[in-house]
Amino acid sequence: MNGAVMSTYARYPVAFERGEGCRVWDSDGKEYLDFLSGIGVNNLGHCPPKVVEAIRQQAGSLIHTSNLYRIPGQERLAERLTESCFADQAFFCNSGAEANEAAIKLVRKYQRDNGRPGRFEIITTINSFHGRTITTLTASGQEKVQRGFDPLAPGFRYVPFGDIEAVEKAVSSYTAAILVEPIQGEAGVRVPPDGYLEALRRIADHHDLLLVFDEVQTGMGRTGRMWGHQWTKVAPDVMTIAKAIASGLPMGACLASARVAKTLSPGTHGSTFGGNPLCCAAANATLDMLLDDGVLEGAEEKGKRFEAGLRDIMERHKLVKEVRGRGLMLAMVLNAPAEEVAAISLSRGLLLNCTMGTILRFLPPLIVSDEEIERALTILDGVLTDLF
Ligand SMILES: *Cc1c(COP(=O)(O)O)cnc(C)c1O
Repeated sequence: MNGAVMSTYARYPVAFERGEGCRVWDSDGKEYLDFLSGIGVNNLGHCPPKVVEAIRQQAGSLIHTSNLYRIPGQERLAERLTESCFADQAFFCNSGAEANEAAIKLVRKYQRDNGRPGRFEIITTINSFHGRTITTLTASGQEKVQRGFDPLAPGFRYVPFGDIEAVEKAVSSYTAAILVEPIQGEAGVRVPPDGYLEALRRIADHHDLLLVFDEVQTGMGRTGRMWGHQWTKVAPDVMTIAKAIASGLPMGACLASARVAKTLSPGTHGSTFGGNPLCCAAANATLDMLLDDGVLEGAEEKGKRFEAGLRDIMERHKLVKEVRGRGLMLAMVLNAPAEEVAAISLSRGLLLNCTMGTILRFLPPLIVSDEEIERALTILDGVLTDLF
């Protein structure tokens, strides 16, 4: 480990040097199957050719200007993203936390601009994850990300995920918005009960609240649809995205319907880097591959195949309690600590992730092949057999 880097992560003692598709190679030349995709970032796999080429070309002509000027690639990206969902406008930033910051500012000011200045509170869910800034860690309903950082930001209220009655009870004359992940990611891939997003929409409409979906992890095809909420007929008022949007270049965005978006007028929000030419070139090329080259189309089917394999493993290993998720956002809940499973899988050439202590999370690239799915399942099966 390098003492010059702050130890904000408990890192594995391995460094990767090269990647291609679903595979990466470490500095000793050892090959790994990547079933984590840099935590849901490399949805197109490593070094997707069109994205690499777009970055190369853009880097050679113009990397950065400023949002003081028009950025054609940003305008094109905004059009394509808004065409893919309910939204009419997009604001670009550099991360998921920043996208949520933008959404939080947007809903507070929206309520003020619409004659409801006392409404600033945002209802979020227990075990949610929305980022690491003071405001977004406050929005995250997890003690472990908040501990030690008080005073936290005022204006958040937490309810159990999936519990409609709790939301109804939490709404007050202070409430401005409801913010949820369509599927909780860091919490261990928790899928809400059917009808949950629909019920949130009804509550929001009834009380003039805004509904915000944090699609930072569920977006960009991860669940087999372009956006996680598109498994339902519900549309939010605001949606935040990041992670996979530019295939690994830092980018986030806050999308909103025109009625809501117009609240962020010139001077009310901004970002130096947000939506710069280089990141937009990467994001546009990412959409080319995801939408035009059929990557998204295959994701649901691949997810089904992988999930079936995980269920098959569950049948044979008593300590596997549950397999859950949607598309290629899947998890295996164990009756035992999962960290060692992740560590041994790594040593056997499979990257996956342990969340919440006992949950294995899988976020493979959407381009994963049937053969790679089989190989990952075989490694995992072997690790579980040897460990328990
Ligand atoms: C990863 C994540 C974030 C935070 O994104 P950063 O880019 O790390 O700031 C926010 N919300 C969800 C749902 C996430 O999965």
